[in-house]
Amino acid sequence: MTAPVNLRSTEDYRKMDAAHHWHPFTDTAELNAKGARVFTGAEGVWLRDSEGNRILDGMAGLWCVAVGYGRPEIVEAVTRQLQDLPYYNTFFQCTHPSAAEFAEAVTAVAPAHLNRVFFTNSGSESNDTVFRLARVYWDCMDKPSKKQFIARRNGYHGSTVVGASFGGMSAMHGQSDLPIEGIHHIGQPYWFGEGRETGMTPDEFGRARARELEDKIREVGADNIAAFIAEPIQGAGGVVIPPASYWPEISRICRKHDILLVADEVICGFGRTGNWFGSDTFGIEPDLMSIAKGMTSGYVPMGGVMISDRVADVVIAKAGEFYHGYTYSGHPAACAAGLANLRIMQEEKLVERVRDDIGPYMQAKWASLGDHPLIGEARMTGLIGAAELVRRKEPIERFPDAGTTGTLCRNLSVENGLVMRAVGDTMVIAPPLVISREECDELVARARKTFDRLADHLTREGAL
Ligand code: PMP
Repeated sequence: MTAPVNLRSTEDYRKMDAAHHWHPFTDTAELNAKGARVFTGAEGVWLRDSEGNRILDGMAGLWCVAVGYGRPEIVEAVTRQLQDLPYYNTFFQCTHPSAAEFAEAVTAVAPAHLNRVFFTNSGSESNDTVFRLARVYWDCMDKPSKKQFIARRNGYHGSTVVGASFGGMSAMHGQSDLPIEGIHHIGQPYWFGEGRETGMTPDEFGRARARELEDKIREVGADNIAAFIAEPIQGAGGVVIPPASYWPEISRICRKHDILLVADEVICGFGRTGNWFGSDTFGIEPDLMSIAKGMTSGYVPMGGVMISDRVADVVIAKAGEFYHGYTYSGHPAACAAGLANLRIMQEEKLVERVRDDIGPYMQAKWASLGDHPLIGEARMTGLIGAAELVRRKEPIERFPDAGTTGTLCRNLSVENGLVMRAVGDTMVIAPPLVISREECDELVARARKTFDRLADHLTREGAL
């Protein structure tokens, strides 16, 4: 990691930031009372802040930096692209070499029936594209009444109007009168949080939650529903790994009722679950697939929608122009970053590594945290995992006021040199896919130390 040049003081940045920078998903008054942490550099799985701290990034940024920080291959590819052709659009019957090559490369690693990609700039834009494309598809199929959508409570699909409406986050819905009309939500397959006390086995619970889809289809009418959208593993909702029974039942129901199945692969795509896509891991055959994040490892913003032959053939044959697109759809720099990123993943066999080597290694280490007195469950698939904070283990008792203990734990963790994220009282991790065995050991040791410190803190406060 080379030292950044011309840095001003942490205080200077905090002042500028507090006065002028409105942060996403942030209580600005609360942030400005203490000041933002200033990150100045990163390499591999390590972040460096303006105070010189070295912090292990257990979250790959925001689930996106698959190939790790500081990869010269991506920097060089983007630099070359910016020199050759920094921008041109992909509207008006134009393309450029990187867009064509990246479209081919990305479809080559996707499930065989997905042979086209529509480029966007983010996961949210991808899901807005899904909304419009699914509706156009049903118009082309002469079924114009099929316009509504079913998604899940506690799912996350982005922050635009459609993204937040597909999402099942009540706090987001509360703030701007969402969801928009015609978007319905069913329960999530969250065994630890909602299934444990039902008396069902995980598989029974998974099937029961999937059947809520059938109940909702009956209620709204299959003739009125365009698609069901869900994440293979719910990420921002707390790394909800569904029981094995869940996805086969969802797939069966979608096919039976002729509902498009949309996999939001924004987090699960590009190796996170130990296969190229979460759909491969769970045996899902999506009609549309939203992608972003790992697509470029976050080096340049990019997203996309992968389109099955079923949908593409009909829309291409019948719709004429699809009146949809973004100025930066297929941006040359993003495509160049994506190509270099994919090349690294293939040359270093990162997906196979997550499936066969570092994934199983890390899963075993992470599971060992389950013996900690504050951890009710430690789960992980590929390199995406969660640890559930509990007040008591037998019987399991959660903390009152969900989120307070999680936030405290997150703050202790960063102080302790590890970025973990808190979703309520669920601690989540998704480190870069290049993490080494030694770094996995370090990550888990730091997590354990964080939980120990949390226990001390809670004992002092009389909260345990
Ligand atoms: N879908 C999923 C599953 C996500 O996790 C996210 C982002 N965390 C999005 C969509 C939205 O992506 P973006 O923030 O790039 O708009």
